[in-house]
Amino acid sequence: MKIVKTIEEVREQVKAWRKEGLSVGLVPTMGYLHEGHQSLIARSVAENDRTVVSDFVNPIQFGPTEDLATYPRDLERDAALCEATGANLIFNPEAEEMYAPDFCTYVDMDHLTKGLCGASRPIHFRGVCTVVSKLFHIVQPDRAYFGQKDAQQLAVIRRMVRDLNMPLEIVGCPIIREEDGLAKSSRNTYLSAEERQAALCLSRALNKGKAAIEAGETDAAKVKAIITAEIKAEPLSRIDYVEIVDWNNLEPVASTEGSILTAIAVYIGKTRLIDNFIIER
Ligand code: AMP
Repeated sequence: MKIVKTIEEVREQVKAWRKEGLSVGLVPTMGYLHEGHQSLIARSVAENDRTVVSDFVNPIQFGPTEDLATYPRDLERDAALCEATGANLIFNPEAEEMYAPDFCTYVDMDHLTKGLCGASRPIHFRGVCTVVSKLFHIVQPDRAYFGQKDAQQLAVIRRMVRDLNMPLEIVGCPIIREEDGLAKSSRNTYLSAEERQAALCLSRALNKGKAAIEAGETDAAKVKAIITAEIKAEPLSRIDYVEIVDWNNLEPVASTEGSILTAIAVYIGKTRLIDNFIIER
């Protein structure tokens, strides 16, 4: 497995693979890899001849008050995980390699990016769409792998690929959790022992909401109230949002009867965590 820092090196490697007729999968990440990322890499390795993992903390998707400076980084550990999982190339550029000083071209989206995480993170999805577009152009993969953990991101990327006719397949992968239910996240490392315990209110609340739907509750407001109450019972929590939306267009729904995404963002202390479940019908 190789680790490269420049766009040119990625292009050369992919060109050589293409000459041999090999298929290529891409797993975009911000590094500090865990079993969630690993499940995406393993899926790509299973479905493609070669797998590229991008490991890049993308500055333009962080707001001015967000955690860009403190976001955890450990390339050596990431490399070991990628190698053990069968990846072939890590692309780990510096910000300067990706963004020229006079960079001014962005990929932006209406509608899908305004609600949920977009409401409190107004420039986030513009940054995500732009960097993912760049990675697609650099690697030109057959398939790219994204976690359902970031469900809005998955929906946004799928829409971008459809709207802009990008010639690749987007593969969505299930949420990987800790044994006690907490969704794995690089940001879990910010949590103190007490906060780590408190963070269980996210998955607990979602489980209660899902159980209510499975028991026949169709009123989205009632399901949201169940989820909200469970989170509020945890003193270290502060809700950013609890939403139930149509999984196809991310518009809020009154009834839980269609294909729905139930998504939450909750601060535990200073750390903002997200989680969700999707029901497809
Ligand atoms: P990140 O490094 O946080 O930007 O995540 C990179 C990719 O890994 C995204 O597609 C995420 O949705 C995915 N991912 C992160 N955490 C998990 C998880 N717990 N389960 C599945 N996929 C995940």
